[in-house]
Amino acid sequence: MLPQKIDRYEIKAELGRGGMAAVYKAIDPRFKREVAIKILPAAFMHDAMFRARFEREAQTIASLEFPGIVPVYDYGDENGQTYLVMRYMPGGSLADLLKQGPLPIDEVKRIFERLTSALDYVHSKGIIHRDLKPANILFDLHGNAYLSDFGIVHLADASIALTGDALIGTPSYMSPEQARGDGDIDHRSDIYALGAILFEMLSGRLPYEATTPMGIAMKHLIEPVPRILAVKADLPAACEDLIARAMAKERDKRFQTASEMAHALEAIAVQAGASPSKTLTPAAAPEVIPATSKP
Ligand code: ATP
Ligand code: MG
Repeated sequence: MLPQKIDRYEIKAELGRGGMAAVYKAIDPRFKREVAIKILPAAFMHDAMFRARFEREAQTIASLEFPGIVPVYDYGDENGQTYLVMRYMPGGSLADLLKQGPLPIDEVKRIFERLTSALDYVHSKGIIHRDLKPANILFDLHGNAYLSDFGIVHLADASIALTGDALIGTPSYMSPEQARGDGDIDHRSDIYALGAILFEMLSGRLPYEATTPMGIAMKHLIEPVPRILAVKADLPAACEDLIARAMAKERDKRFQTASEMAHALEAIAVQAGASPSKTLTPAAAPEVIPATSKP
């Protein structure tokens, strides 16, 4: 069942499957390194819409260069099968990590710092991720977080919607304007998704649950922002305002940049770390590089 090779890449194992493709671990014999390959199922190879979506993904990621973004190495076509070669991320996904439960606030802060600066960078290029979720946040060996899967990104100024009016993205983290199918989505939909991800990282629970995707989407549209302290009472009280702002139904009321949200989280984490009941972590101490140390 496992394809043995695609072009020069030797397929070793399946890493997972998503909405449109399978991802394999492979070896690139030229560099003798492990890579991850996303292959479009053969059944889709004649489907112009899926092909276009895949090609767009390849080109978009290739244009992004930033520490918190999974780098793309190659992209190609073999016998009508399209594939994307990217860095293999041995640390698994945030979705895997969250299966063990919520994360300590200092850890959340550390992951967020990296993701939010990458996201600000992406947004500054006019790109919206549109499908931020824990499965699309991957880790390297050192526990550094990376954004991946710009599969449904669109340039903010492009009016071509490859997927038409279909419900795309994962409703669990979907902004109300995406759930409504508004045509003028902007980067603040990603801020909302980040708010929903933060809710899950801190509490171990999704902000809204329902038995169907439609039910979840409806809750994002109409239900008030859930109170995180009702789920996890020992969190700093300020977390509630932070989530309420990130997940505000009206995007004008949200944080306007991802870093703004990270700063608010950092302030809470430092405050929590400074309280006598908890140990002060090195992350809470500012890193000061003396000017004289420069050559
Ligand atoms: P969607 O299609 O909505 O993005 P998804 O993110 O779960 O859903 P894929 O992007 O196809 O689907 O990825 C499937 C799985 O493969 C991911 O959940 C992840 O665990 C794994 N994966 C993806 N990219 C890599 C990578 N570069 N390195 C290691 N594992 C990866
Ligand atoms: Mg993915």
